Amino acid sequence: MSDKYLDLVSRGWGRSAAKKLGLPQPARLRRTDAARVDQPLVPGPVLVLDDGVSTAASDTVAETLLGWELDVRRDPDELGKGKRWGAVVLVLTGATSPADLGEPALALGGVLRRLAPGARVVTVSRRAADATEPAVVAARLGVDGFLRSLAKELRAGATANGIVLADGVPLDAPSALGTLRFFLSARSAFVDGQLLEVGSADGEVPADWTRPLAGTVAVVTGAARGIGAAVVRVLARDGARVVGVDVPAAGDSLSQVMNEVRGSALQLDITAPDAAERILEHVADRYGRLDVVVHNAGILRDKLLANMSEDKWKDLLAVNILAPLRMNETFAGQLGTGGRIISLASTSGIAGNRGQTNYATAKAGIIGMTRALAPVVARSGATANAVAPGFIETDMTARIPAVPREVARRANSLQQGGRPVDVAEAIAFLASPQAGGVNGQTLRVCGQNLVGQ
Ligand code: NAD
Repeated sequence: MSDKYLDLVSRGWGRSAAKKLGLPQPARLRRTDAARVDQPLVPGPVLVLDDGVSTAASDTVAETLLGWELDVRRDPDELGKGKRWGAVVLVLTGATSPADLGEPALALGGVLRRLAPGARVVTVSRRAADATEPAVVAARLGVDGFLRSLAKELRAGATANGIVLADGVPLDAPSALGTLRFFLSARSAFVDGQLLEVGSADGEVPADWTRPLAGTVAVVTGAARGIGAAVVRVLARDGARVVGVDVPAAGDSLSQVMNEVRGSALQLDITAPDAAERILEHVADRYGRLDVVVHNAGILRDKLLANMSEDKWKDLLAVNILAPLRMNETFAGQLGTGGRIISLASTSGIAGNRGQTNYATAKAGIIGMTRALAPVVARSGATANAVAPGFIETDMTARIPAVPREVARRANSLQQGGRPVDVAEAIAFLASPQAGGVNGQTLRVCGQNLVGQ
C-alpha cells in the first residue's frame, strides 16, 4: 500500500501547499535499510542531559554511547555551527521531586529547533510503582506525561520514547542498553510517545548487534503476507532460522516468503486443537530447538454489536485469542532460557474501536494473556510480551473504506500509517537476547496513535 498524500507533500509545490493550507505534513521516516546494515545509529551528535542528581547515571549512558562510537556531548552549546543533534538522551533516574525535571526539560527545549530530521529523544527514568513517597512518585510519573506531550510536539519524523527502569536495575543492564539502542535506531521509526519498562537485569548483550538472533529458531504464525511476512524477513535478517505457519489456502505465498529466507513453511490452521503439537513436531524434525514464538495470525470480522452474528464473533475469537491461549499451554513449558513469546495485540484492544467489539475483546485479551504468562515463563528464563500496532499499511487496512482509512492513517503524531517492517522491528527487538529484562509488556507501534486508554 502506498500513501499517495505523503508522496505528494514530500516535495515541491505539494509541500508548500500543505504548509500554507495547514494540512498534515507527514515526513518520510528514517527506517532500517536492509541494504545498508552499516547506516549510522543516529543522524548526528548525541546530547546527554541529566537531572543534576543522576550524574553518575548519565556518565554511564555517555560511556555506553561512546562505546557505540557515537559523537557524544554533555553541553547543549557544544554543537558546531550548521550542525543538528541526532539524539538527546535525558537521564532522569535520580529525580525525587517534579522540581528536578525543570532544568533538563528546559535544556532540551532549548535544542529542539536544532534536531535533525529523524532525530530521537529518549528519557531514562525509574518506575513509579516502586516508590511510595508522593513527591518521588509524582516526579517519576511526571516523566511519563512530559514524554508523551513532547512526542506530540516533535516534527520531521523525530520521535520521543522513554525507558522506565525498575528500582535496582542498573543503567548498564542488558535491556537498558538494548532498549536505548532500539529507541535511538531506525528500527523504532514508528514507535513514538511510548515508555517501555525494563523490569530486571536479565538478558544478554549480543556478540553482534546486527545479528542478535544468530543460532535461534523462531516460529511465526500468519506468515504468508502483511506483518507476518515482514516479521519472517526481519527475524531472518537478524540471524534466526524461521518456520512460517499459515492456512493451506495461503500455501503458495507462504512458500514464496519462506523460500526467500531459506526458512521452512508449515501449512496449518492455528485453530486446530493439536496446532502447537504439530508446530513442535515440525520444528523438532528440522531444527531440534525452539526459541521464539510470534503469535501474529489474525482476522477481522467487523460489525456493530447490534448486527454481530454468532459466527463473526466466534470465528474471530477462535483465531485471535483462543488459539494463542491454547498453544501457549504447550509452548510455555517448552521454552528455556532466552525463550520468547511475542503476541500481536492492537491499539483497538487498548482504546476500543467502533465496529470492533469482537476484535478489541480478543486483542485486549492478548494483553491480559501476556501479563499473566510473563511470571510463569520467567521461571525458566523466558519472556512474554505483546506488540500493539496502530494503523499499518497492509491488505487488512487496505480494505477499510477510503474516508475512514485516510482519517485513521493521519490520526497519530507522525501523521501517517506504519509499515509492516516497523512492527517486525519491534518484534525482533523483543525476541532478542538484549530484551531479556523486558517481560509482560505491551509495546505500541502506532506513531503515537491519538487513541488513548
Ligand atoms: P493480514 O490479514 O494481512 O495477514 C494475516 C495472516 O494470518 C494471513 O496470511 C492469514 O492467512 C493468516 N491467518 C488467518 N487465520 C489463520 C489461521 N486460522 N491459521 C493460520 N494463519 C491464519 O493481517 P496483518 O495486517 O498482517 O495483521 C497481522 C496481525 O497484526 C494480526 O494479528 C492483526 O490483528 C494485527 N494488527 C494489524 C494491524 C494493521 O493495521 N494491519 C493493526 C493492529 C494489529
